[in-house]
Amino acid sequence: MTTTTVTAPAAVWPEGVIARYLTVAGATVDLTYTDEEAPGIPVHQGKAWAATKLMVTITVTARCTGEGCRAETTERGDTEAPWGGRPLETGPGITVTRWAQSHAERCRAIPRPTA
Ligand SMILES: [Zn+2]
Repeated sequence: MTTTTVTAPAAVWPEGVIARYLTVAGATVDLTYTDEEAPGIPVHQGKAWAATKLMVTITVTARCTGEGCRAETTERGDTEAPWGGRPLETGPGITVTRWAQSHAERCRAIPRPTA
């Protein structure tokens, strides 16, 4: 009988990683994000431009840590500020999360051993 052992990723995640998917080969697909102020959207009230809706651009990136793979995808999207700091519940976060899950299910690249 053959036993396959998948090594669990480190208990401590790299700084900035907000989610991880374990691939079938024991690497991880790591999700990170950045947010930045976006141009505001003027809001018309009555007969005047009364206010500016504050917007934030969120960029979510998923990157495979398998050596020789390094597949990556990035999505950007704008949302109204304040946005609550929950990137995985926004449009780009949802898209990248699905990609990460799908990649982790079929990627066979293993991580390079660390000393
Ligand atoms: Zn991969």
